[in-house]
Amino acid sequence: MKNYKEVIECVYADVKNVTDTGKVADYIPELAFVDPTNFGISITTIDKQNFGVGDFEKKFSIQSVSKILTLTLAYKFEDAKLWDRVDVEPSGNPFNSLLQLEADFGKPRNPFINAGAIVICDVLLSHLKNPKADFLDFCREISNNTSLNYNVKVAESEKKSGFRNVALCNFIKSFGNIKNDVEEVLDFYFYTCSLEMTCKELSEIFLFLTDDNFITIKGNRILTMSQAKRVNAIMLTCGFYDESGEFAFRVGLPGKSGVGGGIVAIHPDQFCIAVWSPKLNKKGNSFKGMLFLEKFTTKTASSIF
Ligand code: GLN
Repeated sequence: MKNYKEVIECVYADVKNVTDTGKVADYIPELAFVDPTNFGISITTIDKQNFGVGDFEKKFSIQSVSKILTLTLAYKFEDAKLWDRVDVEPSGNPFNSLLQLEADFGKPRNPFINAGAIVICDVLLSHLKNPKADFLDFCREISNNTSLNYNVKVAESEKKSGFRNVALCNFIKSFGNIKNDVEEVLDFYFYTCSLEMTCKELSEIFLFLTDDNFITIKGNRILTMSQAKRVNAIMLTCGFYDESGEFAFRVGLPGKSGVGGGIVAIHPDQFCIAVWSPKLNKKGNSFKGMLFLEKFTTKTASSIF
């Protein structure tokens, strides 16, 4: 941890002063109210040591980082059958793109683009009695943190403005790959995206992807070793949409971003690190978040390659 701590402090100070060419997401009106100068980092190691700097204890909207959690729960329910509904190929397209769905007969390229996450939410609706409450319970159990919650304002704000997601869900339904009511699927999807967490909480909740022996407080395993390996593989190849190659190239860790400006990255067997800086680059990924992680893995030689 000592080595990580020093590097994090040093890279944080360095990146804080870099001119941020990004922009805060405002297509979800409620997200535009965030203070763009927020900048926080938190690392949790496999032996549960934690270290954070800056705004690492402020809650923010995790948005698409939640797609790891919805995928995990759906994978638990369906195992390999899940891949009949959603593929595991990088899309090379923006996160909210409709483009490939027609040629692919309504089967999304992967679970981390919106189309894929919407299908995953549909799968979960078919398994959960009280989807929003049950999913929240699942997140609280993994993180051993009962303070986790949705941000209703953000969810409702996206419900009023999420026209592309409405289009995606209806289009996929026309191919038969959405089984439940479109409005219910979208309502659940918007709430999962509105989950709020701090960097510290994010670096803790994903420990199950670094530690093969991870057991929850209730004594449950989250994923098998093989499943956890596969979730990491999809994060590496698809976690940053049409910038997934760039993230692997510059940072070299499995990761996932969200339009709230959060990024989570996993070093299997070592640590989980979370970064938050709300201004996004043109691909919808946190500008400073990516820069921080690039410098961090370079200085600590902790890329997986
Ligand atoms: N809720 C957002 C949306 O559907 C999530 C997108 C993201 O974080 N990349 O547009």
